Amino acid sequence: MSDRGLVLVSHGSHGVVEFQGGDRIDCLFRRSVGRPLCGDRVEIGQAENQSAVVTAIEPRRNEFVRAGARGRKQAIAANLDQVLIVVAPTPEPSRDLVERYLVAVHSLGIRPILVLNKAECMAAAELSPDSPLRRLEEYRELGYPVLATSCKGAPGITALPPTLEATTSILVGQSGVGKSSLANALLPDLDLQTGALSRVTGKGTHTTTTTVMYTLPCGGRLIDSPGVWEYGLWTMNQRELAGGFPEFEAYEGNCRFNDCCHAGEPGCAIRDAVDAGEIRQWRYQSYARLLEQAAS
Ligand code: GDP
Ligand code: ZN
Repeated sequence: MSDRGLVLVSHGSHGVVEFQGGDRIDCLFRRSVGRPLCGDRVEIGQAENQSAVVTAIEPRRNEFVRAGARGRKQAIAANLDQVLIVVAPTPEPSRDLVERYLVAVHSLGIRPILVLNKAECMAAAELSPDSPLRRLEEYRELGYPVLATSCKGAPGITALPPTLEATTSILVGQSGVGKSSLANALLPDLDLQTGALSRVTGKGTHTTTTTVMYTLPCGGRLIDSPGVWEYGLWTMNQRELAGGFPEFEAYEGNCRFNDCCHAGEPGCAIRDAVDAGEIRQWRYQSYARLLEQAAS
């Protein structure tokens, strides 16, 4: 017997796997096969004692990682389609926060989407001069989808379901921007789903520590992983950084030195493009600041 399924929760040595028909079972994970992550597509067979066991993990399209101990990357989910970067007028994001998140999402090979939550508070918000929230239109021009939501008033969360449909997404952002509120609004049966997942394994699913894949009413999936990226990201290197600025791409390879970091070296095509007004000054400055804090 061999069947295919999707991992909804991973507890390390076992977890909840959903079959294509929607049935869910508790499956054993074996070290020899590797550790399945939430979002993994797996093959399931039968162990000697008749219990279901993962026999293979299908190749991953991508891994979503968080900064673990000592800044090491730790994979917590697989096969995501998009990362929703949630920002809000309170707490106001620091000037490079959005770039930091964009760099991280690009480096994982996942599509970033910006979500402005608490949008109903924008009119009254006193934003600092270099607030990323003043740049939302420019992010749109750079090609990033920007959606406005509110869990408390207009415009509501109606912009989200069409974007989440038939995709697997995760919400990231600073503590207090409204990620839990958005998840609760998107998943009216969140507690029921959590309870049902716990019953499959016969163990409590501790939503304060466990990464869980929920099913959205619109048909997509939402991965909830408490606290991811709230307290920082792994240390980026120069390559990862530059990859987070897609508008640099057209000029890569045109610098005088082919190991140019675009940090003030002579003959830098990126700097020339900034001076010519082809690359936004504030984006370049953000890159330069992040580069100073980057791993060499
Ligand atoms: P999280 O830390 O990102 O999960 O944020 P929470 O969902 O816990 O929300 C933080 C606070 O912001 C709570 O007091 C929420 O009630 C509030 N909040 C969430 N969404 C909105 C919104 O759209 N508008 C306003 N005004 N407050 C919101
Ligand atoms: Zn350069």
